[in-house]
Amino acid sequence: MTTTLTNWAKNHTYRAGTVHEPRSVEEVQTLVRGARSRGVRGLRALGSRHCFNDVADGAELVALGSLDPEIEVDTEARTVRVGGGVRYGTLAEHLHAEGWAVHNLASLPHISVAGAVATATHGSGDARRNLAAAVVGLEVVAADGGLRHLLPQDGDLAGAVVSLGALGVMTAVTLEIEPTFDVAQEVRTAVPWDAVLGAFDQVTASADSVSLFTRWEGEVVDQLWRKSRVGRPEGAWAPGPELVAGTVATENLHPLDLDARSTTEQLGRPGPWHERLPHFRMAFTPSNGAELQSEYLVPRGHGPAAIEALRGLSHLIAPLLLVSEVRTIAQDELWLSTAYQQDSVGLHFTWKPLQPEVEALLPRIERALAPFGARPHWGKLFSATEAGEPGRLAELYPRLGQFRELAAAFDPEGLFHNDYLRRHGLVSPV
Ligand SMILES: Cc1cc2nc3c(=O)[nH]c(=O)nc-3n(C[C@H](O)[C@H](O)[C@H](O)COP(=O)(O)OP(=O)(O)OC[C@H]3O[C@@H](n4cnc5c(N)ncnc54)[C@H](O)[C@@H]3O)c2cc1C
Repeated sequence: MTTTLTNWAKNHTYRAGTVHEPRSVEEVQTLVRGARSRGVRGLRALGSRHCFNDVADGAELVALGSLDPEIEVDTEARTVRVGGGVRYGTLAEHLHAEGWAVHNLASLPHISVAGAVATATHGSGDARRNLAAAVVGLEVVAADGGLRHLLPQDGDLAGAVVSLGALGVMTAVTLEIEPTFDVAQEVRTAVPWDAVLGAFDQVTASADSVSLFTRWEGEVVDQLWRKSRVGRPEGAWAPGPELVAGTVATENLHPLDLDARSTTEQLGRPGPWHERLPHFRMAFTPSNGAELQSEYLVPRGHGPAAIEALRGLSHLIAPLLLVSEVRTIAQDELWLSTAYQQDSVGLHFTWKPLQPEVEALLPRIERALAPFGARPHWGKLFSATEAGEPGRLAELYPRLGQFRELAAAFDPEGLFHNDYLRRHGLVSPV
């Protein structure tokens, strides 16, 4: 039996024969034990299905959307414990109502917390680490059906957060929180590339979170989004030194020039963190809907040169592209994080839904970015022959060998292995 369940972008139909929807941790444990005794290989946790590749696929899926949606704030420890199926949008509403916040969000609030941290999902900001870096605890049902609690003092946590489902099913994630804050965002249009590349560090430091949207054509960046924390109650956009050229937008804009009702409020108007940090609102389809995505992260010192390399490929990229986004991410210590021990620049592509053409172009882009040590985003499309070649990933991720050992310790018989993990050398053959 095969399912007709697809990912969000509908470019992948899960090949799994069965999709389980457990409602409790005990049900997850029973499922794992049952799969093990039935000799199933490829039992995979499934979040909100926002990845663009087969990372979540396997013989059977454990969809976590029906799991008890618990959210427990510990004000003393300044943490929140979140059930394995909860989405960031739901968590954010809850936290804000209780006076709390997480440090950053991705471009959309629709994604599950567990799925996002499992793939090193990030937002933007020179000083903002990716979302996974806020994790201070995990509860994971391992291959023997036992529930493991991982804490920062266990050396394993740094390897277990960004784990692509290879260690088991995360039934709860504990995140650091901070008091709620307001953010204002401003958008500028037609910002000259010369001004951006000539002062790249100053431009990305000119707000808490900066995004450049480009189609790689012409001499200007189409849109520059800047988000900054503002004080209460008077908070408004404070532009700082006038180092960013371009025209300040006087109406809300969409990065793809679509209906801006789906984007969060701009124009320098302050509002709660969770209504400004994502680009898109929870009640609307984020981005375009019909699209594919890829992203490569380079050490930030290489940012301008990597951008120039992509500008040199604009004749190949632009015909397939809806829009690209350039962001910055602070380094962390998570073994498979795309920002592991290096401040990074993310070079993202939102493609037209033309998968064969996009897949034919990715090796060319990866060759152009290879001199900069570009790490592919785990949840988006990348080439299986270039960056996906196991030796290459091991060069990019110095802790990959240790990750394989950790995965083997949690799952000696390969219950959670799938084609993706094997293809990219992320697990040892069993
Ligand atoms: C419109 C759009 C915008 C996006 N914007 C951004 C962005 O701004 N920044 C960014 O970095 N990425 C972005 N992404 C990518 C997205 O954040 C990642 O693909 C993320 O993994 C999605 O989470 P998910 O719950 O949908 O994961 P899924 O696709 O459901 O699963 C992803 C992986 O996580 C594992 N997993 C899921 N739940 C669990 C669990 N409970 N226990 C163990 N493993 C689990 C799965 O096994 C799989 O390996 C975007 C995607 C879309 C569609």
